[in-house]
Amino acid sequence: MRPARALIDLDALRHNYRLARELANGAKALAVIKADAYGHGAVRCAQALEAEADGFAVACIEEALELRAGGIQAPVLLLEGIFEADELQMAAEHDFWCVVHSLWQLDAIEQTPLSKPLVVWLKLDSGMHRVGLHPKDYAGAYQRLLATGKVAKIVLMSHFARADELDCPSSGDQVAVFEAARQGLAAETSLRNSPAVLGLPQVPSDWVRPGIMLYGATPFEEPQAEAARLIPVMTLESKVICVRELPAGEPVGYGAKFITDKPMRIGVVAMGYADGYPRHAGTGTPVLVAGKRSRLLGRVSMDMLCIDLTDVPEAGLGSVVELWGRNILASDVAACAETIPYQIFCNLRRVQLVYSGG
Ligand SMILES: *Cc1c(COP(=O)(O)O)cnc(C)c1O
Repeated sequence: MRPARALIDLDALRHNYRLARELANGAKALAVIKADAYGHGAVRCAQALEAEADGFAVACIEEALELRAGGIQAPVLLLEGIFEADELQMAAEHDFWCVVHSLWQLDAIEQTPLSKPLVVWLKLDSGMHRVGLHPKDYAGAYQRLLATGKVAKIVLMSHFARADELDCPSSGDQVAVFEAARQGLAAETSLRNSPAVLGLPQVPSDWVRPGIMLYGATPFEEPQAEAARLIPVMTLESKVICVRELPAGEPVGYGAKFITDKPMRIGVVAMGYADGYPRHAGTGTPVLVAGKRSRLLGRVSMDMLCIDLTDVPEAGLGSVVELWGRNILASDVAACAETIPYQIFCNLRRVQLVYSGG
């Protein structure tokens, strides 16, 4: 059997959820498990958190239905709400909470008969300019929702564009826009995603929405005290399947992107971009082999990549390689590939997910 696998530590997931709660100043916390829990397996992650989580958040009704099929009974927020009006009745039936980010979604609620009242999270565009209602439409939309008589509860929400940039004033500006738009509306609020849970404790938010931090990866580029308390949930590992000794001046891999500069020992690892390992990670990207830090050499292939064993004589055929995990941070690997840990987790495929910690 090919040795590539992702070990998922559900105890670490619970640790990170509890940290989000601790930093939430008493707020409730929706565990964001969209995109198959950022590649970690949504149903298994939801099962591991269900006893303590206040609810879950996913991108769409298809993801939410997968959780219900997996036996999850907790509330599930659809972060982009409905995509078509005929999803509304299903959302009401299954107790899926719906974000309303656009006026057409509000029109749909007004026009669709529903057998049960809906919980709506009304989204304000406070400055990110992706989705969300314009501040001038916000209070009116709230009143229209109430007037439908089809709504059991409304939560007022917005989303930060730059909370991952420490000391960036833009989040404060967004909070001010949000506070102005919700004047006089008596409803709970939700603003904080992972970087805001970790870095903006002063921002009031009755509900927090941690995603990436649950998986133990930092959303920041710089070190940050609270992020240092996260425990990586996933260990992506494989094994050395071939070892070769090369003299100086020999190319390694496609495109001869690495040339040995001295006699070297090269290990070939069963891991490639078809597994989701980033192809743009180049020579020097850290790996752990036989417990020692080493580095990637040359181009990542579809199914294999090469690492430097020159200074790790104890490593050889069959040695375990950590591509990311507790020793090699996914955020560091992502930085080497000019991307973010979110993307390298979501890209994971073909590798078997192996769970521990129930
Ligand atoms: C994905 C998402 C989150 C979680 O973001 P993280 O940065 O992973 O914590 C929170 N809120 C909304 C609206 C999202 O789409």
